[in-house]
Amino acid sequence: MDAARTQAYDAVRAGRGAAVRAGRDADLRLRPRALATEAVHAGREDLAGQGLHAPPIDLSTTYPSYDSRGEAARIDAFAAEGADPEGPPIYGRLGNPTVARFETALARLEGTEAAVAFATGMAALSAVLLVRAAAGLRHVVAVRPLYGCSDHLLTAGLLGTEVTWTDPAGITDALRPDTGLVMVESPANPTLAELDLRAIAHACGSVPLLADNTFATPVLQRPAEQGARLVLHSATKYLGGHGDVMAGVVACDEELARGLRQVRFATGGVLHPLAGYLLLRGLATLPVRVRAASATAAELAGRLAADPRVARVRYPRLGGAMVAFEVHGDPHEVISRVRLVTPAVSLGSVDTLIQHPASISHRIVDADDRRGAGVSDRLLRMSVGLEDVEDLWSDLDAALGRRR
Ligand SMILES: *Cc1c(COP(=O)(O)O)cnc(C)c1O
Repeated sequence: MDAARTQAYDAVRAGRGAAVRAGRDADLRLRPRALATEAVHAGREDLAGQGLHAPPIDLSTTYPSYDSRGEAARIDAFAAEGADPEGPPIYGRLGNPTVARFETALARLEGTEAAVAFATGMAALSAVLLVRAAAGLRHVVAVRPLYGCSDHLLTAGLLGTEVTWTDPAGITDALRPDTGLVMVESPANPTLAELDLRAIAHACGSVPLLADNTFATPVLQRPAEQGARLVLHSATKYLGGHGDVMAGVVACDEELARGLRQVRFATGGVLHPLAGYLLLRGLATLPVRVRAASATAAELAGRLAADPRVARVRYPRLGGAMVAFEVHGDPHEVISRVRLVTPAVSLGSVDTLIQHPASISHRIVDADDRRGAGVSDRLLRMSVGLEDVEDLWSDLDAALGRRR
C-alpha cells in the first residue's frame, strides 16, 4: 500500500476523514451536514483525492510488511488498547479498509464517535455481552419484547450472562452492582412497542444502555442523542436494504469500541469486505428507502385499521416501514395467500415481506414469555418495501380472505 493509500486508510478509520479533508474541504469544516448528505458521502471523503469514485473492495486477508518490529509494536498497541492500528492494515481479523468505510459512515449517521462491524447482528450483540462479562459485569437488565434470538441469547445465558426482565419503570430497581448492560428495542420487534429512550437512559444511571435501532434506523431515530451508549443494528435489515447481505454493527463511543474491536479480533466474528462494500452502498439510499417505504406503510396501516377482518394494527408513532397486525381469522391462511408480498422472515428489504412471529422470528422464545410480551398468536409482522401501494393493498386484500 503506498503512502497516499495508507494515509487515506488512517483517515477513514479515524472516523473523521480529517487528514484527507484538510486543505480540500475547508468549506465543510464548520457546518454539520444533513443526514441525506452524510449517507452518500461519509466514509468516502478520500476517494476523489485518490482518483476514485466507487469505494475499492479490499479482499486481502493479509498485508505485506518489511518492518516486523514496527508491526509488532502496532499489534502490542492494539492488544493493550483496542484502538485501530495506525498505518497499513495487518490482517483481516484486525481490520479491513472497506469495512472501515462502512463503520465510519454508520458512526456519522448515528452521531457516535465510532462503530464496530460484525458478521451478523447476533455476533454484534454477542461481542457487547462478552465485553461486559469480561469486566465482571455479567448481569443484564432487559425489556421485552426483543428480537427472538436476542431474547433467547439472554434467557438461555449462552454466554454466561444472567438476565432480569423488567418493564421500563422497573429498570432502576433491577440494577445490581454487577449489572453491565441494559438492553431495549424501540420500536420493538415484532410488536412495534415504543419506549421513551431518554427516560430509560436516565433510569440506567452509569450502566450503559444498549438500544437496538434496527427498526427505526438513524433516519428516524438516533438513540445516542437520547443517552444510549450503544446503538445496535442488524445491518442485515435496512442498512443493507436489499436482502443480500448479513451484518451487524454497534455504534458507540471510542472507549466501548476498543473493547468491541478486541473481542472481534479474538473471537473472529468479522464482517466480510464485500459485505462492507454492500452496506456502504446501502447507506447511500437509506434515507430515501426508509422515507418511501414508511409513507407506504403508514397508508397500509390506515387501511388495515379500517378493515373489519383486522382486529388490531400496530404502527409506531415514530413512523417507519414495519406494520404489525392481528387478524380475526387464521394468520397462517393469510401467509399462504399472499402472492406479491413475500412470505419470509427478515425485514428491511426493497420488497415487502410478511411473517408470523409466533411461528418464525419469535418461535425460540417460550410461548408464555412471548405472549406476556404482547406477541399474540394472531399477530402478523409486515416489512413494507418499495412496491406501489395499490399493488400491495390488492395483494393484502386478497390474502385477508372473504370480508366478514
Ligand atoms: C434480525 C434482528 C437481529 C439479529 O440480526 P442478524 O443480522 O439476523 O444476526 C437483532 N435485532 C433485531 C431487531 C432484528 O430484527
